[in-house]
Amino acid sequence: MLIEHLTRQLREREAAGLIRQRRVLHTPCGPKASVSTGEAAPRSLLAFCSNDYLGMASHPAVVEALAEGARRHGAGSGASHLVSGHGLAHEQLEQALADWVGSAFPECRVLGFSSGFQANLALLTALGDESATLFTDKLNHASLIDGALLARAQVQRYPHARIDRLEALLSASASPLKLIVTDAVFSMDGDLVPLDEILALAERFDAWLVVDDAHGLGVLGPQGQGSAAHFGLHSERLILMGTLGKAVGVSGAFVAAHPTVIEWLMQTARAYIYTTAASPAVAEATRASVQLLRGPEGDTRRETLRAHIRHFREGVQALVRRHAPLGWSLMPSETAIQPLVIGENAAALALSQSLLEQGLWVPAIRPPTVPAGTARLRFTLSAAHEPQDIDRLLSVLESQARGWQAAGAAPSARP
Ligand SMILES: *Cc1c(COP(=O)(O)O)cnc(C)c1O
Repeated sequence: MLIEHLTRQLREREAAGLIRQRRVLHTPCGPKASVSTGEAAPRSLLAFCSNDYLGMASHPAVVEALAEGARRHGAGSGASHLVSGHGLAHEQLEQALADWVGSAFPECRVLGFSSGFQANLALLTALGDESATLFTDKLNHASLIDGALLARAQVQRYPHARIDRLEALLSASASPLKLIVTDAVFSMDGDLVPLDEILALAERFDAWLVVDDAHGLGVLGPQGQGSAAHFGLHSERLILMGTLGKAVGVSGAFVAAHPTVIEWLMQTARAYIYTTAASPAVAEATRASVQLLRGPEGDTRRETLRAHIRHFREGVQALVRRHAPLGWSLMPSETAIQPLVIGENAAALALSQSLLEQGLWVPAIRPPTVPAGTARLRFTLSAAHEPQDIDRLLSVLESQARGWQAAGAAPSARP
């Protein structure tokens, strides 16, 4: 019964163009990838799909810190943090992170997690008790949506980035504990929400602001301190979740907040308490990466990424204008996440497949990850790219656009 039930549903997904595929990567994370699908022999691709925005995942100093960390501390932590798994490496990482992002808080303490998904579940379930109301952006990351579902709090959702609608909800709420929950940089659109305006609302309505900075940390703000620092925020009301597997290039996550909030998480968050602490070697690698990102090397990498973003946007905007009948549109993002909206699922998939045949790895993002009718190619840029990589991408896209337009096909009419 179960197998038939699942098979039927998988077939429905397949018919709707929603089946996802894993590809096996044979090379370290970086723009030059060797990749296979199933039995096929690996092929070389130029990748525009990782969140390693600053090229730290394969940085020799970070790799060395991981190896050295394993030699010093061993491979595994052996237990949860509250039993015996919390090592010196974890402790020092938490301090380094508090030092990095602390300027946004009058008093700051950090708690480390093994993943951002886990940190968001921990945060929202521990803070969102029966007395609380969560005010959440409709396009928030899946982990914030699931965290809100698991919490016992009431949940009120507002349309993406509609500060006016958030304000209306807050002003109508009599909840004794109000928590605004938002991504800083939205992962499928690449836009940065005005955290300064949202914090002002939090202050006006006696609410707290939970910010998921998965895509801003390392990239935005002085020393890569992230989106809160980019806006110059400074508030006791801020609760920040940062991930360490994206621009920081390793893995894991953390929550930074007032020390009492952190103490409460440590005492009560089940997703923190009942799980094995990450490898101490990973904590050492993360600390090495953070140290580099705070310094001149981080500044250079951030500047390189910004130059790639300008280069890409100028090229694609001109291309979209030249081929206006195709109806493609580049979303207004100033971050490393650059979505090109194509429209129908089949068209986005076909374009992604054509690029793959030309040696470019760019994922198509389809519903339910994004709203129906806005299937897109999601390019992510990295400081590890070379300017020539962007040129190659632009020239392949141009030849695709020409072919599609010459065929007179609306993109949705393509197989
Ligand atoms: C990636 C991501 C997460 C999850 O972080 P992991 O460390 O990968 O589990 C959470 N929130 C946002 C916005 C993300 O992009």
